[in-house]
Amino acid sequence: MLELPDYQLRQRDYLIRISQAITAQLDLPGVLSLVVRYAVEIVAGNYGFIALHEESDDELRIAVANNIAPEQYAEFKPLLRVLGTPGATAKERARAVLRIADRLHLPLRQMVSLPLLLRGDPIGVIVVFRAAVNVAFTLDDQALIEAFANQAAVAVQNARLYQAAVQEQQRLNAIIEQSADGVMILDWRWRITSFNRAMEHLTGWPREEAIGRPCAEVLGIHNDQNINICLTACPLQRLPRMANPTVEGRITTRDGRERYISSRYSPTYGSDDEFLGAIANVRDITAQILEDQQQATFISVISHELKTPVAIIKGYASTLSRTDANWDIATVRDGLNVIEEESDRLNELIGNLLDVSRLQAGGLRLRFGPVDLPALSERIVQAIAATTPTHFEFQLRFPSGFPPVHADEERLRMVLSNLLSNAVKYSPEGGVIRLGGWAEADEAIVYVSDQGVGIAPEDQPRIFDRFYRVDNSLGRQTQGAGLGLYLARAIVEAHGGKLWVESQPGRGSRFIFTLPLELRSLPVETAAPPLLEQE
Ligand code: ADP
Repeated sequence: MLELPDYQLRQRDYLIRISQAITAQLDLPGVLSLVVRYAVEIVAGNYGFIALHEESDDELRIAVANNIAPEQYAEFKPLLRVLGTPGATAKERARAVLRIADRLHLPLRQMVSLPLLLRGDPIGVIVVFRAAVNVAFTLDDQALIEAFANQAAVAVQNARLYQAAVQEQQRLNAIIEQSADGVMILDWRWRITSFNRAMEHLTGWPREEAIGRPCAEVLGIHNDQNINICLTACPLQRLPRMANPTVEGRITTRDGRERYISSRYSPTYGSDDEFLGAIANVRDITAQILEDQQQATFISVISHELKTPVAIIKGYASTLSRTDANWDIATVRDGLNVIEEESDRLNELIGNLLDVSRLQAGGLRLRFGPVDLPALSERIVQAIAATTPTHFEFQLRFPSGFPPVHADEERLRMVLSNLLSNAVKYSPEGGVIRLGGWAEADEAIVYVSDQGVGIAPEDQPRIFDRFYRVDNSLGRQTQGAGLGLYLARAIVEAHGGKLWVESQPGRGSRFIFTLPLELRSLPVETAAPPLLEQE
């Protein structure tokens, strides 16, 4: 076997180490330092550097050096300019080196420089100096260094590609992260590899916990039949493949909220048509779904609520107008009473609907003035008591000297009438209905309580929603469009107050609201009943 000369063996050894370093690390200065150190060593030099063309201005700048301190780099500028000038003579180079040696007191007596070439284009230079006076660099030395120059060029190329890839990745990450829609990236096993902030918000899953899990576990989209369609009908697994499959359904967030989402997938497939992964674009469509549901409820409730009185009116009117029947006066009066009541109901419903649409169009307009709340309450209670069966007892509980409230009297009448008629409607056994209040520093607190069926805790926040009616047998027996409390709350809030409920199922309910006082300074000494007083 042919024996290699010692320096060639060393060169081979160094080159192997450099290429290992290039593959093992992407730290460019680290690899270049190694290259320049070995290059200096192999040709028995004393100093050396690698300078690279800056992409911005194409000037050569020292990237790493061997035995030259960074604060000395500035002195090499004239030499770098000569090295970067095509056709510069050996004399010019020698003069530039001499000047540096002189200024830095360094024994830079011999120099060899070789370009770093990348596909024929110069991207920098490697320079080695010797301190010995009479030992010039040979062609062999140059050939040795050239191998290092090539390695350095590869390292630079790798690092630049890596840098570009990292920047691209960061740009993509930023776009994904900032997206208002939820974005998650899935691998070929449907496991989440990327999960943006909007996804965290939408699902309640922190990204650290979501990443690595199957998307069916994190998202778990359920259909109307409560089946997890991610497990049973994932569109990414379905054939024939759709271009941009979309799934809509309900998810339960990590913190127990229910949301409706639409998830669109952009899958990627390999050359053998194998699934490689997908990007999922997830949107919260809860508001839209609820709006659709409300619209459907609205139509069914309203048509029912409108049809019932119309049918009754029509029934009575056609019965009373029959020419073949000879009705006595009492029957006619009863019939006309029913017609009048049902017309009032229709009128009220239409008024409520108009108020709802006014509210949606930008709020209610109120005509404020001082209102004597106890007197108003008395009138309303009398009117309601007159049309209520006798197994109800109404009690008014206002202290004397109750200060006037700052309110729109007509709207306030609607709120009180609604709360009182609900108290009657939802107390099938009758009982005591109280309407009372007391004054605090700048507001009045008013309540209407009953001993009726009460409201389950889970329904309590929802009864103030538009068209919401508790789904129980009483709800089905009683008439109502689910608008009364929605409007009552809107009216109270338009006054700057609050309306809420306290209730125990089977024991009764108490609706409480606040209103501003006309004169807000003087606190009125009144006895405030405890809110959880036994009815
Ligand atoms: P409506 O009475 O027309 O259905 P509301 O908005 O006035 O509409 O009330 C919404 C729902 O709240 C009712 O359907 C009923 O289930 C419940 N509710 C209201 N007031 C009472 C009450 N005093 N006691 C029990 N349930 C009530």
